[in-house]
Amino acid sequence: MIVRNHERIHADEENLCQKCISELEDLYSYLDLSTEELDLLDMPRRSFTVHFPVHMDSGKTKMFVGHRVQYNDARGPTKGGIRFHPELTLDDVRDLAFLMSLKCAVVNIPFGGSKGGVVVNPKELSRTELERLTRSYIRAIADYIGPSRDIPAPDVYTDEKIMAWILDEYERIKGEHVPAVVTGKPIELGGSKARSYSTSLGGILVLEEALKTKGMDKSDVNIAIQGFGNVGENAARILHERGYRVVAVSDSKGGIMNKDGLDIPNVIKHKNDSGSVIDFEGSENISNEELLTCECDILVPAALSEQLNKDNARDVKAKIVLELANAPTTIDADNVFSEKKIMLIPDILANAGGVVVSYFEWIQNLNNDYWEENRVLEKLGKTMVNSFKDVFSLCEEENCSMRKAAYQLAVKRILHAERLRGNL
Ligand code: GLU
Repeated sequence: MIVRNHERIHADEENLCQKCISELEDLYSYLDLSTEELDLLDMPRRSFTVHFPVHMDSGKTKMFVGHRVQYNDARGPTKGGIRFHPELTLDDVRDLAFLMSLKCAVVNIPFGGSKGGVVVNPKELSRTELERLTRSYIRAIADYIGPSRDIPAPDVYTDEKIMAWILDEYERIKGEHVPAVVTGKPIELGGSKARSYSTSLGGILVLEEALKTKGMDKSDVNIAIQGFGNVGENAARILHERGYRVVAVSDSKGGIMNKDGLDIPNVIKHKNDSGSVIDFEGSENISNEELLTCECDILVPAALSEQLNKDNARDVKAKIVLELANAPTTIDADNVFSEKKIMLIPDILANAGGVVVSYFEWIQNLNNDYWEENRVLEKLGKTMVNSFKDVFSLCEEENCSMRKAAYQLAVKRILHAERLRGNL
């Protein structure tokens, strides 16, 4: 994305990631980076758009648009999900690819960052159309991905079934098995144990470290979760299993609240039966907006970006915000939270558990050696707790927000790798 060149090139565009720009500009002056360093972080290494045909069930062919951005690969092959979303833009993908570069650096795994996606509402496609769309997109980008080049994974509105089609299409093109080309696969096709819930669990492990620093106990806290997709639902389930009180959850149709705590296993059943969490017996229906500002101690945005913004930030009552979604908080909201001393655990740390277990999956695929769930969980736990400690101690040392500390740690690691390569 980012900063000065971005401003130069895209000054007339409306949907810039103002937040990333401001944050990085801020960081650049804070870290006293040189012009060369700035320029190096300023733009993606590779960014492209593809147009590809898909045969629809109607018998007609429709053209679709897809993007992929490989932001920085100084620390390893680029890594990042593929999302299917009707409003996706190349700018969004670039911002998210930049965040992936920081995320992999902050948890210290040997990957760069990327992101991709197709401009489509997957809910409007049949299963066969979805499969043909996925395969056609992969044919269009196949030359640019690979286990030591760029490795896709699930993201918003994509899942393990789609990862299986990606694997199959790529292997057909290459004429050999290449399981490490994509992560988040079904276990039967080389997926890792625990990958399906690793983003949520990673966030909860980090949250538990944060609670310790605040001397808060699980019995003291009420939790509200926005989003009931893979990440939000698993977060609610795991928190409930660990004895936390989840008082509100929501999906795209609306939310529900019960101050005494929701019976999450039954909410999940209700959502599977009815298509939404709303109208759950014994709870009150609330809007998504009400969920974000409800009486709670921990707020977990686990849906789309920019949900916490200048219009609602002042009304947020939580003491801790755990960003399980990517970029759910705008810069204005960030400033309000700092002012109100709300502890914000930034996305690049809070939701990194997914890419950490993707890394474990990639290692298992390359070695053809598959691990027990406990081994994955133990390694995930260590990585998340150490990363939290790294970020938190920097935040204390520098008396800055956790977001700034996480960005600082990540940018320093990326620049160090660039320096070792002789690029600086
Ligand atoms: N899409 C996820 C993310 O934003 C996972 C990426 C991955 O596993 O490569 O972190």
